[in-house]
Amino acid sequence: MTKLIFEKSTDGINGVNIIDDDISEESLGINPKFLRKNKPELPQVSELEAMRHFKELSDKNFCVESGFYPLGSCTMKYNPKINEYLSLLEGFTDIHPLQEDEDVQGALELMYKLQEALKEITGMDAFTLHGSAGAHGELCGMMIVKHYFKTTGETNRKKVIIPDSAHGTNPASAGMCGFEIIRVNSNEKGQVDICHLKELFEENKGEIAAIMLTNPNTLGLFEENILEISKIAHANGALLYYDGANFNAIMGVTNPKIMGFDIVHLNLHKTFATPHGGGGPGAGPVGVVEKLKDYLPVPVIDFDGTKYFRKYNLKNTIGKIKEFQGNFGVLIKAYAYILMKGNTLKNASMDAVMNANYLKEKLKDYYKLPYNFPCMHEFVLSGDKQKAQGVHTLEIAKRLMDYKFHPPTVYFPLIVSEALMIEPTESENKTRLDEFAQAMITIAKEIETNPQEVLNAPHSTPVKRVDEINAARHLDLKFTKNNKE
Ligand SMILES: *Cc1c(COP(=O)(O)O)cnc(C)c1O
Repeated sequence: MTKLIFEKSTDGINGVNIIDDDISEESLGINPKFLRKNKPELPQVSELEAMRHFKELSDKNFCVESGFYPLGSCTMKYNPKINEYLSLLEGFTDIHPLQEDEDVQGALELMYKLQEALKEITGMDAFTLHGSAGAHGELCGMMIVKHYFKTTGETNRKKVIIPDSAHGTNPASAGMCGFEIIRVNSNEKGQVDICHLKELFEENKGEIAAIMLTNPNTLGLFEENILEISKIAHANGALLYYDGANFNAIMGVTNPKIMGFDIVHLNLHKTFATPHGGGGPGAGPVGVVEKLKDYLPVPVIDFDGTKYFRKYNLKNTIGKIKEFQGNFGVLIKAYAYILMKGNTLKNASMDAVMNANYLKEKLKDYYKLPYNFPCMHEFVLSGDKQKAQGVHTLEIAKRLMDYKFHPPTVYFPLIVSEALMIEPTESENKTRLDEFAQAMITIAKEIETNPQEVLNAPHSTPVKRVDEINAARHLDLKFTKNNKE
């Protein structure tokens, strides 16, 4: 029996408590030791107080609308607000994934056309939209690799080659699928060491299932020998997997098909302007070449000439990796972005590359540039010079916050000591880039003249310097009144 109990709360606003006699913890058979002794302390606040709470939380968040956000590898570009508007149209928000195909033709058409656009942009022959992030796309891709070799009977292919510069999700995804990870070295030019790669194939004859690569790589350098790498992989019967997280550097200019890749994931939330980080769920669609089409998860969205439909009967499908059709809202935003850019998508990549090179040139006299080559959409500095003066990269990152910039990615990729990985994206104008460069140069000078200023940073944020060692040693995940500050 459900009862509604009206109560007067402390700030004078009437509240409603719903008490359901039929569903007590006891009736659900819960062990008494897990039952609470007292009623939960639920906040009783007015709408205004609730709004203030959420506004305060949002003010604590730094987003690309707050300022420059050069978080390398994350492509924190501006997400045009038209994307949000379109994803909130009621024809999209008021449908349910269990509705029949004929009732949701518009949504299916959008997904089908997004698949077609991604095919054209990447050169792949088929796509699934299911992946809910880059890492999830990788997992899906590696499941396809595994299942492919199961159906060809080559079950001794149990190893995956990954460069030492790779993003951590690459070995993690391959490892989750049961593959053994073999590391290929980068050479002094920041490129995959081809001799080492050949040796690895020699030493592990018939056992390599795939090479996982991103291009440009995590140093922001274009992998110049990609065609040779693809030749070596294919001559040895292995597949070539493309981590598309760095796709913002090349879209419309070249594509993974031309480079010889067999499987691709894209990060719609990076390249195709949908919010991520604290801002929302992502999407990691996976594209494959013709021979792997049948291995995609189901359903894929298809079109028979008159209507759009969800297709389940793929001969070798790996099954399902996600409920329903993936993160539909993200798909709408990415499709809106692609339509808006049309055949000028390429300009976004070219501007991103130009911005990165501009910043690199402005900063390389002040910070060590370990790989001094023209870069793609990002570049990696080393804080070694500053470390020798007693200030680590972590402190430089914190000091940047005083200048109202989001810090770059730090300590990644692992092959660069004291790494600062900077990705400006195409969204920024010259004035912003100059301001950021000036802040970085000022910090480099501060380290020479007044290092303590940098060591004690940040000075301007509401929460002062976090005691990181204590936080790591005595991790407290419970939000209690006492640790509120
Ligand atoms: C971001 C990124 C990933 C993982 O993507 P998520 O969407 O964060 O899971 C993989 N590889 C590279 C190079 C990345 O930058």
